Amino acid sequence: MSNIKHIDEIISLLLNKLNKNRNPILSRSKWENINRTPFTTLISCILSLRTKDEVTEKASIRLLNKYDTPQKIIKISENKIRELIYPVGFYKTKSKRIKEISKKLIEEYNGSVPNNFNELMKLKGVGRKTANIVMVYGFNKNDYLPIDTHCHRIPNRIGWIKTRNPEETEQELIKIMPKKYWNDFNKIFVKFGQIICLPISPLCSECPIEKYCKKINVKNHR
Ligand code: SF4
Repeated sequence: MSNIKHIDEIISLLLNKLNKNRNPILSRSKWENINRTPFTTLISCILSLRTKDEVTEKASIRLLNKYDTPQKIIKISENKIRELIYPVGFYKTKSKRIKEISKKLIEEYNGSVPNNFNELMKLKGVGRKTANIVMVYGFNKNDYLPIDTHCHRIPNRIGWIKTRNPEETEQELIKIMPKKYWNDFNKIFVKFGQIICLPISPLCSECPIEKYCKKINVKNHR
C-alpha cells in the first residue's frame, strides 16, 4: 500500500498552524518540576484515560510531585492517591491500578517500567494505547504509533482510512504513514483534535488542511 497523498505538505501545514499551542500533556518533557520518565509517563497516561488534559495535568502534578517512583507510591495509601488525583475520571479504579502496578513493577521488574511493549501490556489497566504512549514518550522509541480518540477520528474523517476502532486504525496507519512521522503523529493529531478538528462540529473554516479532507461523516462544522 502506498503512502498517504500529500502527507509531507499536510504535516507541515499542521505543524505551522499548531506551533503556538501547548503540546498535549503526555508529549511534554516536563510538568512543572516533574521530569518525564517511563514511570511518570505511564502514570499520567493512566490518569488521562477519559479525562481532559487540564485535569490530567493538575492531578499528575499533585501526585507525581512527591511520589514519582513505584517505591514512593507503594508507601502511600490508596485513599491518599484518590485524594491527590481527584477529579480524574474513574479516580477510584485508577488509584487501585496505580498502586497495583507500582507493586508489580517492584516485585517483577526491579522497580522499573519494562522497556518492552508486550511486558507493558501485562500490567493490569494497560492497553495498547498506554503501552504505545510509554514506548514513544517514556522510552523515546520511534517504532510505535499510539492511537487515542483523536488519532482514530481524524484520519477517518480525512478519508485516509476506514476503520471501526483505534486498534484497526493503528494497524492501517502503520501500513500507510511514513515511519518518519510515527514519533510525532500522536502529538500533532491530539493537539489538532483538541483545537480544530473537534469531535463535534469541527472548525473546518480554520483548518489548514481542508483541501485535503473528505469530511467523512462530518455532519456539522463551523
Ligand atoms: S476540514 Fe474539518 S473535518 Fe477535515 S480535518 Fe479539517 S477540521 Fe477536520
